[in-house]
Amino acid sequence: MTKDNLEFKTEVKQLLDLMIHSLYSHKEIFLRELISNASDAIDKARYESLTDSSLMENDREWKIKLTADKEAGTLTVSDNGTGMTKDEIIRALGTIAHSGTKEFLAALQSRQVKDNPELIGQFGVGFYSSFMVADKVTVLTRKAGSGNTKGVKWESSADGFFTVEDAEKEKKGTEVVLHLKEDEKKYLQEWEIRNVVRKYSDYIEHPIVMDIEKEEESKLKKGEKVKIKEEETLNSRKAIWLKDKAEISTEEYNEFYKHVSHDFTDPAKVIHYKAEGTSEFVALLYIPSNMPFDIYYKEYKMGPTLYVKRVQIMEHCEQLIPRYLRFVKGVVDSSDLPLNVSREILQSNRQVDIINKSLTKKVLDTLAEMKKNEYEKYLSFYKEFGRVLKEGIHFDFSRKETIADLLLFPSMNKPADTYISLQEYVENMKEGQEDIYYITGTSYAEAKNSPYLEAFKEKGYDVLIMLDEIDDFIATGLEYHGKKFKSSIKGEIDLDKSKEAEKKETKEKFKALIELIKDQLKDEVKDVRLSGRLKDTACCLVGDEMDMDPQMEKLLKSMGQDIPQNKRILEINPVHPIFEAMNRLFEKEQKSVVLEEYIKLLYDQALLLEGSKPKDPAAFASAVTRLMVKDVEKAGA
Ligand code: ADP
Repeated sequence: MTKDNLEFKTEVKQLLDLMIHSLYSHKEIFLRELISNASDAIDKARYESLTDSSLMENDREWKIKLTADKEAGTLTVSDNGTGMTKDEIIRALGTIAHSGTKEFLAALQSRQVKDNPELIGQFGVGFYSSFMVADKVTVLTRKAGSGNTKGVKWESSADGFFTVEDAEKEKKGTEVVLHLKEDEKKYLQEWEIRNVVRKYSDYIEHPIVMDIEKEEESKLKKGEKVKIKEEETLNSRKAIWLKDKAEISTEEYNEFYKHVSHDFTDPAKVIHYKAEGTSEFVALLYIPSNMPFDIYYKEYKMGPTLYVKRVQIMEHCEQLIPRYLRFVKGVVDSSDLPLNVSREILQSNRQVDIINKSLTKKVLDTLAEMKKNEYEKYLSFYKEFGRVLKEGIHFDFSRKETIADLLLFPSMNKPADTYISLQEYVENMKEGQEDIYYITGTSYAEAKNSPYLEAFKEKGYDVLIMLDEIDDFIATGLEYHGKKFKSSIKGEIDLDKSKEAEKKETKEKFKALIELIKDQLKDEVKDVRLSGRLKDTACCLVGDEMDMDPQMEKLLKSMGQDIPQNKRILEINPVHPIFEAMNRLFEKEQKSVVLEEYIKLLYDQALLLEGSKPKDPAAFASAVTRLMVKDVEKAGA
């Protein structure tokens, strides 16, 4: 029999190193992770044996056994689940770093996790957490249905290497033997093990058993006690979702949430209900309080755990809930689905569609209720998950209005950190105001002070401030109670529809000057026109109604996308004295160097106002100082 000495993948090595040298609290989660792996392995075996009963090997009494050997100083977690082949174990425990590893490493090095070690619970740190308490780990495993000589022994002391060799194992499944470190021997104590199991693994469906030593009356000698060992189940195994609501305490609900979500904070809301009729199922769903670190990653695992008649079918059943509600955690237990349902079947299953519709409605209704009755709570939910929820506006056409009712935005007329709903906005619209106006930007202060809002301020119109990059994308094409959304930085703004004659006159007056500006800036802008949005500022750059929002453009560019250069429109403010002056100069002398310089300067200013840089910052700066000198001289200094 050969024994192979293999090297861990780099990320795994780093992970082990950090796990051993920088995590000092919550070490007990290693047991939760090993039990959870054992439970998954049993679920898998049970599921596979539905189609191939020989995989049971006549051992259908599923259980996870904990064995503490005080003499040897070892704690063993064994299961009679699916087990692993040699190839599988080499991959699973050594050569592939699973998806969360990189993020976990980054988080471990950050203060965030160092200060709040309970956060590590969020990451599937898994098997490797064993090395927080053990200096050597031995795994003996055999694939279900493979014959007792096909076992494998894996061993490592976390020194960068692990060994694998063939081994005999009579029963299918996996045994993880932890050779505990000297100062972690407390995990051999019965009460400590009981505590940890109760704290983290009480809801595991399979029995977690341990041999408990007890004293019993001797059958041979009356009056004498003998010590016996008896297997005891340590977890309560109750399917909390099947219990009556009235029997479940908030603590119980919260504990179960922590179990299914790996989150350490209490959820914001619990949704527990039973559906009857066209589809029979029980759902116990949670709306978390905090955003998981990976919710925007492709690898994020969404969806409640699916059970069919109490049998766990799969974790993260994404077909049960739309993506924009991917923060929802929990379980769904269906009475209608077949036990051997696969991911493929789930994709086009009527029952699943019914459940999905029902859960979606329930979650959206709950959020609406929260917004109405527990506004503070809703607001803090919204600050965490609003951005995810908004995706629904785009992807869930039939529920657009319902989701729009859940949206909140800061607004120009409200102080920072105050949000308003669309309903509130519409109710406060001024007479003659037809559209819902918004401005995109990167901060409340910058947006609120933007020159693009001058005309709105004068009119007393409120403007929604949209700070998420995706907001413009969502607002485009959205209607709320028949009102369209209009960006204050795109397209033409005309808030004074009544003054047509006056506007025509102004247009005539500046016609020739505008032509001159257009000609001089023809390579920079696609049009020059009079502005309806400016009051105090001389000029600004705007996009066409259908142009991409500058925030979005920046985002896509930062992601390395090739965005075609879109020319902007220069808007000039006809009531600003500079244009009066320029007009007079122009009437006197059509080809003026001063005019040419002013046009350049005004364009550069407009660039600065929209957050861009003048093409030639040095020329801009020297032109401004030149004018300053002139001004000082004029003042006689
Ligand atoms: P995770 O469970 O998050 O995938 P782990 O590091 O805990 O990460 O485990 C890695 C993989 O090793 C698992 O996905 C599984 O394939 C395998 N594994 C771990 N423990 C067991 C076990 N008791 N039985 C069968 N396979 C296991």
